[in-house]
Amino acid sequence: MSSDLASRVLSVLRACHQGREQVSLHEPCFGGRENDYLRECIDSGWVSSVGTFVDRFEQMLADYTGVRRAIAVVNGTAALHCCLRLIGVRQDDEVLVPALTFVATANAVAYCGAVPHFIDSSDATLGLDPGKLGDHLKEIATVTADGCRNNRTGRRISAVIPMHTFGHPVDMDPLVDVCKRYRLELVEDAAESLGSFYKDRHTGSWGRVSALSFNGNKILTTGGGGAILTNDTALADRAKHLTTTARTQHPWEISHDAVGFNYRLPNLNAALGCAQMEQLPGFVANKRSLAERYRQAFQGMAGIRLFTEPAFAKSNYWLNVLLLEKENAFERDRILELTRTSGMMTRPAWNLMPTLPMYKECPRMDLSTAESIASRLINIPSSAFL
Ligand SMILES: *Cc1c(COP(=O)(O)O)cnc(C)c1O
Repeated sequence: MSSDLASRVLSVLRACHQGREQVSLHEPCFGGRENDYLRECIDSGWVSSVGTFVDRFEQMLADYTGVRRAIAVVNGTAALHCCLRLIGVRQDDEVLVPALTFVATANAVAYCGAVPHFIDSSDATLGLDPGKLGDHLKEIATVTADGCRNNRTGRRISAVIPMHTFGHPVDMDPLVDVCKRYRLELVEDAAESLGSFYKDRHTGSWGRVSALSFNGNKILTTGGGGAILTNDTALADRAKHLTTTARTQHPWEISHDAVGFNYRLPNLNAALGCAQMEQLPGFVANKRSLAERYRQAFQGMAGIRLFTEPAFAKSNYWLNVLLLEKENAFERDRILELTRTSGMMTRPAWNLMPTLPMYKECPRMDLSTAESIASRLINIPSSAFL
């Protein structure tokens, strides 16, 4: 029976997308005022690094996510990099990062001259497991006057970056607890979770600073783009300053008071962002109803199921996830091959960070759950218009 699991998955996907020959994994939807706003930008001449759409987009993001301030930047990776600089991640620090994430989370740590330290995932959320993290720190770390120290490497552990995997929130309450106990800064990688809530609060509002992404495949897109979220207004001012080349205020003199970044989001991209933000509640609703259709369609199928949001969360279901049972993991590649060659775009999870050549030598804990999840996970088509 199990030998035809791949064809059964394919026929369920086909049934869910009747009348569509080719279904891609994730496509943007431009069904709102995108053209009007872009034209307004071009007609006004304000297409680049200054303009009213940037301010408007930042305000819309802050209002939607419930944080005090949002700072728009060129992409999510730049947002993460800047977040780590803002909280003072130093050369040779360690930063706790999930092993199961997109490479940008670990890269942002490396850009600071710091070392990612890889953490296992939870079966319930797909994100990092706060319980296992607490146990790990108990074994390897001591809290000193300078913060948390890794007894094995001698390095300071300065921060932890939970990532809300495919839109499903990490269990934040126990993680906040671990951060307090070990004096760790909390930075959320909320690149995939715009529209997702943990309990009553939006993801990205728990960390001291957080990063969003508006890349072409995310729930909403600005072409390329990202944002930093924070409730700390002084840090927000610092973020704006650092991402706009740290230029000092003066009517005509051109001067800079730090090594800043040219990370600001152009007005043209922000215009697209404003039009997309107006549609975000609709995108989330459509994605949640697609997830429910998938859940029902796969309900009766042995060996595989749709991953659904944890009880404490309301997820945006950015990319829907099929999880094979452990004993069916060997069928993953055949399912990927059959669906992809039949026009139903699917893909596996990212290779775990410590398998990548540049992160092979980095510290890590036992990663058995992340390894298991990665071997059994398949993303299926999830565009908001489906
Ligand atoms: C998309 C993504 C990013 C980075 O976003 P870009 O805008 O592509 O730089 C970071 N982390 C995660 C988990 C992502 O999915």
